[in-house]
Amino acid sequence: MARADLIAMPGYEPVQPVDEVAAQLGIPEEEIVKLDGNENPYGPSPRVAEALARFPYYHIYPDPEQRRVRAAIAGYVGVEPEQVVVGSGSDESLDLVARLILSPGDAVVSAPPTFGMYPFLARLYAARLIEVPRRQDFGLDLPAMESALNEGAKLLFLASPNNPTGNSLPRQELERLLEGPAVVVVDEAYAEFAGESFIEMVGDRDNLIVVRTFSKWAGLAGLRVGYGVFPKPLADVIRKIKMPYNVNVAAGAAVLASLDDVATLNRRVAAIVAERERLRERLADLPWLQPFPSQANFLLCEVRGVAARDVRDRLREKGILVRYLDTPVLRNCLRFSVGKPEHTDRLLEALTEIGAHVGR
Ligand code: PMP
Repeated sequence: MARADLIAMPGYEPVQPVDEVAAQLGIPEEEIVKLDGNENPYGPSPRVAEALARFPYYHIYPDPEQRRVRAAIAGYVGVEPEQVVVGSGSDESLDLVARLILSPGDAVVSAPPTFGMYPFLARLYAARLIEVPRRQDFGLDLPAMESALNEGAKLLFLASPNNPTGNSLPRQELERLLEGPAVVVVDEAYAEFAGESFIEMVGDRDNLIVVRTFSKWAGLAGLRVGYGVFPKPLADVIRKIKMPYNVNVAAGAAVLASLDDVATLNRRVAAIVAERERLRERLADLPWLQPFPSQANFLLCEVRGVAARDVRDRLREKGILVRYLDTPVLRNCLRFSVGKPEHTDRLLEALTEIGAHVGR
């Protein structure tokens, strides 16, 4: 009785849970260096645990209108609270947008290599995905993208900075794409590491939506909170179609505590950005690795003369988890999330050992 297209569709490929990897490898969980999920190695603000410990209302449903949380987020990003809708991770915010815009058969455009959620959502809503591959330098192929949009596409997903390539979308390119007929979703999951955002353009245009998350800069990936910033008329409809209690009270309390401690979180963002640059320089010293510049909390690296998949496997045996990528634009690549300095040291030591082993 299930939809035949859903039975046939490939699922979203998440990373393996760390306790499972630890058990498989026979390594204690706390010794695993997890650099495969672009998570924040510093975790949440210490105020989050305090807020959750003293929260008195776990037995009461959350506010379906998310008033306090939306007001706090609106203050943080400088928009009106009416423009904000909060979701269970930015994954849910992206899902709400797709649910709002896409009917079966509608065209949706994305620019691979990019985040796997966009093709997943296209399939889920039986939309027609038009993929416009990025150029070799990971920039958008604007003419191809404009002709895809002019085929009547309703939605365009763009991540800035993009996962896994790490580059940001230039503002003039976004302005050009907003001239088209489609709703443009800019996914800013990593914006805090780039220090730039398109949020202030939302509202001036009726077809721009920006999606953000607390998973990366604020270290709340496990509590699942993201949000969208919408033109007001779209926000009103999104609020209507979302599940009433989509963001649980623990997640809501964690957002309020995080936004009370932005200075601490920003210092950690700065530490991650500095560590990213150190890691990039050290990776570039290895002749068989070519790291690309990144504006996010991860580095994409091309592997030369060795199979990247084998390098991933050997790192894994040493308890270091990284992401392997092999797509038409990205051949033989690895993606390293940026950890603490000691994680960088362990990664570099392991890579040097692997490099010596393969005779380089
Ligand atoms: N957008 C991008 C570009 C991502 O890389 C990710 C996480 N991998 C997400 C959104 C989803 O993050 P979350 O649901 O935790 O907010």
